[in-house]
Amino acid sequence: MVGARLDENLYDLIRLEENRDRLRSVLIETYFSPEARQPVSEQSTINRGAFVFSGELLRRPEDPTVQETLSLEEAYLPAVRDQGFRRAVVTAYSHRCALCGIRVRTLNGHTAVTAAHIVPWSETQDDRPANGMALCRMCHWTFDEGLLGVSRVYEVIASRQLNTLDNLPGYLTNLEGRGIVGPDRKPLWPDTESLRWHRENVLRTQ
Ligand SMILES: [Zn+2]
Repeated sequence: MVGARLDENLYDLIRLEENRDRLRSVLIETYFSPEARQPVSEQSTINRGAFVFSGELLRRPEDPTVQETLSLEEAYLPAVRDQGFRRAVVTAYSHRCALCGIRVRTLNGHTAVTAAHIVPWSETQDDRPANGMALCRMCHWTFDEGLLGVSRVYEVIASRQLNTLDNLPGYLTNLEGRGIVGPDRKPLWPDTESLRWHRENVLRTQ
């Protein structure tokens, strides 16, 4: 477990956003050289924005009244969207790969999974967790290459090409017909329309 113990008075103080902002500025001014301050401050804005955005993405399917609380400037930072989507999807799947089920996390929080868009962001700008799946590196690449897909009833489909490749890691073909490992919360499961788009546009049927 990685964590920190905070002084109680400090904890009370930083429960207010404006105090957190002020403390963040003071820490950056105190501990970083003048030339490092701007990049550190920008990264801090991205991390904070991504944290807020991922919380909204996870709450919205069950509560459509959740409003975006990011400033416009923050909301349009691609890094905030990327990191927020990643955080939401990986959290929804509890760090488990939707296709092969692997779950590996290091003590300092590194995880074997990444967040995959089912319909690429460039097509629909859809960052809902339901347009994503947490996938390990191998499954992510295989899904993006159209060698694996997911059926209407959430079973893994393996492209016939998988069987014709040399040196194929056997476990990929063994996934065929197995149910995917979805999030605990039903509204966060992959959108069936997004999966259909992937089957029709990406999955290699030959
Ligand atoms: Zn996997």
